[in-house]
Amino acid sequence: MAARKALREELLSADMGITGCKLACAETGQISLISNEGNIRMATTMPKIHVALMGMERVTATMDEHRETIQLLTQGAALQKLSTYVSFTGGPRGEHDPDGPEEFHLVVIDNGRSKILGDDDFRESLACIRCGACLNICPVYGKIGGHAYNSPYPGPIGAVITPLLDGVNKHADLCKGETLCGACLDVCPVKNDLPRMLSVLRYKLAYGDNHWNVRQHNVAESYVYAAWQKAISHSSAYKRMIKTVRLFQKPFVGKNNMIHRMTGLAAGWTDDRDLPPIAKKTFSEIWDEKYANRPQKTTQLKEEKSDDE
Ligand code: SF4
Repeated sequence: MAARKALREELLSADMGITGCKLACAETGQISLISNEGNIRMATTMPKIHVALMGMERVTATMDEHRETIQLLTQGAALQKLSTYVSFTGGPRGEHDPDGPEEFHLVVIDNGRSKILGDDDFRESLACIRCGACLNICPVYGKIGGHAYNSPYPGPIGAVITPLLDGVNKHADLCKGETLCGACLDVCPVKNDLPRMLSVLRYKLAYGDNHWNVRQHNVAESYVYAAWQKAISHSSAYKRMIKTVRLFQKPFVGKNNMIHRMTGLAAGWTDDRDLPPIAKKTFSEIWDEKYANRPQKTTQLKEEKSDDE
């Protein structure tokens, strides 16, 4: 009632109503709008002018496709057959229509979408129908909520399209903050492969990309990971690295045998939590000590076999 009191007069006297647009239909020239409260119906019928803003990828070819896509959307969003309010609107009111705007304008927005369309790695992201199923299933979105994405598009789909539309470096945290668990791909009604696209964005951040104006996000970090890759591929190098880190970590280990604060590149790891230091003896060191001098099982077997013979 409060909203009705406050808004109805405003809407009755407004010159222009501005809405988004879920989908447009090329066959009939209509657009559809979906809401849960019905407010869109007032904004589209009461003011003299209706302006709808539409991303350029939102066009279906026929009304049949249009209807099917709307059903996919509402099922993906809330397992509903249809949303509470679905409005089709198709231009200014006719001569005998009781209501409707005198003028209708559809603003088609590109804003970076053509560039996405021209890139084989990312063009499938334009098939998104904004159902929100990937948001509901995402463990990261579930913990941090929508505002943390700092963009109109939150969740896994936001983590892909916000960097593409507004700068990969500017939104590097979004590309790197997802778990790549694949739950979003499982639930997506159009099978948008968001984990794959997030991996491509991370690759661009790691190595740079002129086409998308991506600077290497953290050059020092890429050297650290390159060294880490080499170290874990060779057991002797890995063991040497563990011994060296164990030596360097000593000044940082507190009385309760935890690391409270690290410096430089590693500082972020201890901003919000303590870290356990590298163990005095790692599993492989204990294993070596215990079993290094034992004969190999295959040798033992061979010996047993030759004994039998
Ligand atoms: S990516 Fe898929 S699940 Fe996520 S909003 Fe788009 S269509 Fe829905």
